This record gives sequence, C-alpha cells and structure tokens, in this order.
Amino acid sequence: MRVYAVDVLVIGAGAAGMAAAAAAAREGARTVLLERGERLGGVLEQCIHPGFGLHRYREELTGPEFAHRLRGELEDSGADVLTGITALEVFPDGPKVKAVSPRGLKAFSPKAVVWAAGARERPFGALRIPGTRPAGIFTAGLAQRLLDLEGFLPGKRAVILGSGDIGLIMARRLHLEGVEVAAVLEIQPFPGGLTRNVVQCLHDFGIPLLLSHTVAEVHGRERLTGITAVRVDEHRRPIPGTERHIEADTLILSVGLIPEVRPIEGLVALDPVNRGPRVNGWLQTEAPWLFAAGNCVAVFDLVDTVAELGERAGAAAARYAVGELPAGKKVPLVRGENVTALVPSYLDGAAEGARIYLRVPRPLEGVTVDLGGVVRRPVRVARPAEMIGITLDGDALSELSRREEIVVEVKRSG
Ligand SMILES: Cc1cc2nc3c(=O)[nH]c(=O)nc-3n(C[C@H](O)[C@H](O)[C@H](O)COP(=O)(O)OP(=O)(O)OC[C@H]3O[C@@H](n4cnc5c(N)ncnc54)[C@H](O)[C@@H]3O)c2cc1C
Repeated sequence: MRVYAVDVLVIGAGAAGMAAAAAAAREGARTVLLERGERLGGVLEQCIHPGFGLHRYREELTGPEFAHRLRGELEDSGADVLTGITALEVFPDGPKVKAVSPRGLKAFSPKAVVWAAGARERPFGALRIPGTRPAGIFTAGLAQRLLDLEGFLPGKRAVILGSGDIGLIMARRLHLEGVEVAAVLEIQPFPGGLTRNVVQCLHDFGIPLLLSHTVAEVHGRERLTGITAVRVDEHRRPIPGTERHIEADTLILSVGLIPEVRPIEGLVALDPVNRGPRVNGWLQTEAPWLFAAGNCVAVFDLVDTVAELGERAGAAAARYAVGELPAGKKVPLVRGENVTALVPSYLDGAAEGARIYLRVPRPLEGVTVDLGGVVRRPVRVARPAEMIGITLDGDALSELSRREEIVVEVKRSG
C-alpha cells in the first residue's frame, strides 16, 4: 500500500474541511483534503434555501452558493483535493490515516490531521416509537436530499417530528413542492429552531406547530397511514387522554444531529454534552497532532461559524506541522448554570483570538454570560437554537489563563 506523506491532511470537505484545507495551504503547508463523496460542500449542497453567509460574506446566500465561494477559496489556496475516498481509521503512530476508495486502500502519513467529518442524523430506531415499521419514515436530511438533489417527493401528506432548523426548513420545502404538511410536532414547550425559521417556514405558510407534543405510535403495514400524536408534560411524559390521530403517508424526523467521530473516538476524549472531541482554543484535541472543526466538534447553527473554526483549525494544524504552534497553560472550561453545548473545552493562554461558543438549555430573557467573573456579556434573549459566541481580548485571555478552571454560566442580569 502506497503511503502519502503530507504536512496537513483534512478529512471531510464540508464547510469546515474546505475552510481548514484552504487556510492550511495558505500558511504554506502541503495540504490534502479527503472527501468520501464525489462533490465538495457536505450538507450545504442540499440546503438550497437562503440564509447562509450573512456574517462571512455579508450577503444572504443559498447553501450551494456558499459552498461555491468556499470551493473558489480552496482552489486559490493550492490545496490538493481527493474525492471518493473515505477515511476508515486514524492511528496515533505510523501512517496516521487509512482510507479506502474504489481503487483500493490508501495510507497517509501527515504531520497534522484536521478531522472535519460533520454530523449524522439521529435515526428512527433510536427513538423507540411503538407501532409498525412501514415505508414513509425519513430523516429530514434524507428527505431533503431526495427532494433537492434527486428530484423525488417523499409523499403526499407529511407530519414532521422536531422543530429544529432542519425540520422547519423541510416543512417549507415540502409545502412549496405541493406536499401537505399536517403539523410539526415539538416535544419541548418552545421551538427548537431559529426564530427567523419559525416565522419564515411555518407562520408564513400557515403550518401548525404543536409544542409539547410527540409521536406516540406509527400506523400502517406497507406504507405509513398515520401517526398518533400526544401531548407531553414537563417531564416529557405522554399525558393520557390527549392522543389524536393524524393521517399522513410520510413522517419526517428532525430529532438531532450527532457529531461524526467513529474513527477518532478511541484516540481522544469526547465531551459528554457536545459529543465531539474536547478541543482547546486552537481546535486541537488531546492528541496534539489531531485538530477538529465544524459539526463533528459540536452541532453549530451557522455555517459562518463552522467555516471560521475550520480556518482556525487549518491554520493551527499548519503551524503545528512545522513546530510553530505556541502552547500555553491548559485551563478547563467548566459548565455552570444554563450552559449545554460549550466549545472549546480548554482555554490555552497562547491561543490568541480564541472565541467561546455556548448554548442555553431553554429560552432565557435578560441574562448575562459570565466567563469566570472576568468577562460578562449581557444577552437580551438567549435561545437554545442560537449559539452565543464571545471573543476574548488579550487582557481577558491572559487573566483567564492564570486560573485553574473557568466556570462558564448564564445568569439572570441585575
Ligand atoms: C437542513 C439544514 C439547514 C441549515 N440551514 C442553515 C442556514 O440557513 N444558515 C446557516 O448558516 N447554516 C445552516 N445550516 C448549518 C450548516 O449548513 C452546517 O452547520 C455546516 O454546513 C456543517 O459543515 P461541516 O463541514 O461541519 O459538516 P458537513 O457539511 O456535514 O461536511 C462533512 C463532510 O465530511 C465528509 N465525511 C464524513 N466522514 C468522512 C470520512 N470518514 N472520510 C471522508 N469524508 C468524510 C462528508 O461526506 C461531508 O462532505 C443548516 C444545516 C442543515 C443540515
């Protein structure tokens, strides 16, 4: 088996991977970007709705347009791109990455790796919903792919479970393509997606959103014929007597994304809440040569953030490859009150320009994000769907990096 020696190997050509490879190559590193699909762009290619790039390009683009811009940056950078190759295993020593393509196995011996493999959808089997197992049940990403890339309608009358952004966007796409959307069910008492998506995808088209509801049972032998919807209490337990039948031949599941970490999970510690690798302010994992960026670290709401973190990881990997990445004291960030997703897991005093991203568990009004009592940022309305990003200036970074740990919390202001 031929072994390819490179400085930086980037795995996954979504927004994070393309931005990482371009940044690494711009730093002068010999860079290869591996993608298992035939096209570059990852999930962006099937997101044909607008809403991408407002921060990065100051324009509202569709997913494919955003991917096109990044492909241009990648081409200009001089990074090499290999498509149709899947990274199978990542090892701590020797040729660090084994990959397979239709032409056989390949091995890569990079000085640094950027893992940018995105996230996968939580499948129907993980939900343990009683009933039959007919055709007509799709994850939202699969339905989106069928509709937007392959040109197939998944059915005629749909129920959507989950009001995250993907569920909301699919409700609108299905409606616009002539599928009747009977309802969007959300188990939480608040919508899971961005407010703009609730308004633009549901309210504008009169699609009902049933909060504190879930699917109690699916019906149908060959094809789905309907579902039983039920109201849930504050502990998400079904309330007896609130069941109602909704006729539908299609159930779309938008019930969460899980960071893709299989080939690296034995190598590095994962964060139990983010479910991706623990990283420092350079996006460097606990294996110093392995960096990670994008939805494989934690699920991000905006592609602009994903691309920004990809760039940071790629540039840092290139500096690591030539022994020029500064290392400072590693200070753990600890979740305090009202914090779920939190990136990075450590602050590194040398990681200038680091940003901290976090999510809250439920909508909160009039709160302050507090980083170890050193940085306090008031937030008028914090929503679980919207990640809060905080940039640390040099003074805050040097003060915080003297600590043993930094508690990150979101408290009522005043
Ligand atoms: C339906 C939907 C709507 C969205 N709407 C918006 C929006 O309006 N605005 C916005 O800013 N953001 C939006 N987002 C979020 C944004 O698109 C994503 O956060 C971002 O594109 C994720 O990029 P990524 O590079 O982390 O992952 P991905 O795009 O998933 O890319 C990962 C890549 O890695 C490849 N890969 C995985 N494993 C391997 C392997 N072992 N070997 C080789 N290659 C591998 C995959 O094939 C894929 O190409 C939306 C996302 C979705 C799903």
